[in-house]
Amino acid sequence: MIRFENVDKWFGPMQALAGVSGEVRRGEVKVLVGPSGSGKSTLIRTVTRLEAIQGGRVTVDGQDIAGRGLDINALRQRVGFVFQAYNLFPHLTAAGNITLGLTKLRNMAKPEARERALAELARVGLADKADEMPGKLSGGQRQRVAIARALAMDPEAMLFDEPTSALDPEMVGEVLAAMKQLAAAGMTMICVTHEMGFAREVADEIWFMEQGRVAERGAPADLIDSPSHPRLKSFLSRRV
Ligand code: ADP
Ligand code: MG
Repeated sequence: MIRFENVDKWFGPMQALAGVSGEVRRGEVKVLVGPSGSGKSTLIRTVTRLEAIQGGRVTVDGQDIAGRGLDINALRQRVGFVFQAYNLFPHLTAAGNITLGLTKLRNMAKPEARERALAELARVGLADKADEMPGKLSGGQRQRVAIARALAMDPEAMLFDEPTSALDPEMVGEVLAAMKQLAAAGMTMICVTHEMGFAREVADEIWFMEQGRVAERGAPADLIDSPSHPRLKSFLSRRV
């Protein structure tokens, strides 16, 4: 579904990704961990071309995302993205944040879009918050609206970039629960997160990134319980 082939990314003289390869099959969940600055965000941002790459190839469903004929808006509907925070339009209600894409990008009629928005909000446990403004919602509720908004576009895959790291601890669980539910429903996902409990439970494979490379990868039990890379050991000793 998503394939990285020797991906290189430079920010000026600084190499953020150095020959990253890997693939995510349909229905798989990969969790990316690693120290700050190791390239996790950059790697997932290449998938929807939020970052251009200078070497290698990224494909979604076999299609080179840098290809000339590629419809970038269609790609960004097919692959949903949930960021750390500040996902929502503050001047639109929870439902309004969801209907916007449906009416503008999908040409859906407003009543139908509204119905879909309510269904997606119900899926993340926010049926009663449809008409609240984001400012009135908790951080955890806002992140769930962001997830619902992405899901409304019927994505084939979802990318999460530390969706819980800006939240108060008591709100982390509700967002992880929505992500777990999504994984259980068979969604293809790449999640950047430091929540090792989530990784252990949900990931098919964990990729440990370090200095722009995937330094180690493996099944959660192997990687967490018997890491071989010394940096991964010290990383985990601070997290688990
Ligand atoms: P992570 O998500 O693992 O913390 P990032 O992918 O954000 O790491 O960053 C990887 C490296 O690329 C870091 O050294 C970071 O400073 C650099 N970087 C990221 N975004 C930019 C940018 N827009 N301009 C310049 N350097 C950047
Ligand atoms: Mg990051």
